[in-house]
Amino acid sequence: MTETIEIERRGLMLVLSSPSGAGKTTISRSLLAEDDELAMSVSATTRAPRPGEVEGKDYYFMEPVDFNLLINRDELLEHAKVFDNYYGTPREPVERALAAGKDILFDIDWQGTQQLAQKMGDDLVSIFILPPSTQALEKRLKTRAQDSDEVVARRMSKASEEISHWAEYDYVVINDDINRCRAEVKAILQAERVRRTRRTGLLTFVEQLREGY
Ligand code: 5GP
Repeated sequence: MTETIEIERRGLMLVLSSPSGAGKTTISRSLLAEDDELAMSVSATTRAPRPGEVEGKDYYFMEPVDFNLLINRDELLEHAKVFDNYYGTPREPVERALAAGKDILFDIDWQGTQQLAQKMGDDLVSIFILPPSTQALEKRLKTRAQDSDEVVARRMSKASEEISHWAEYDYVVINDDINRCRAEVKAILQAERVRRTRRTGLLTFVEQLREGY
């Protein structure tokens, strides 16, 4: 049996952005289920919980006053207003995971991605997921049915704004087939994990290899 060689590396931040309804949540869930080295970043939000959402798992739900406290204490890596609510990424779990060589998955919008790209540089790998068509997006938003018609209409008009930021991302994946889309996102993650610049233990490994000759 061949030995598995583990080379120490810094974790990476994998950002998935898309307009609501483009399939991002389905893809995130299956990536997380299949990959022990990947954990989800749980955002703080001032939005009310939807049916079935769990505090501390889907979001940290909070009042605006408490959200502001996090901002003032510099405890958020990024934050933005999306629709009528505030959303932000708690800093501490991200820094801990990166240092431990674990990867973190983010479901955040283009504003948050811009802020993380500025702050975190090469730690960030960003993927934009496009729906295959406007009709498909509308259908997915309607069948999700957790939001009122008014909210669905506003999310559709927001979708076009979100999509306008596609070119700010490292990778763009079109979700016309959920299995293919998931496979493409997995391939990006696998390739980014072996990027030379993340592999902090590579120099020692190569030196040991060379000493053997
Ligand atoms: P939802 O209310 O449907 O859960 O999320 C609405 C939007 O907020 C989604 O586009 C999602 O990506 C974005 N979002 C969720 N958490 C964060 C966050 O921590 N920061 C930013 N900038 N956007 C977020």
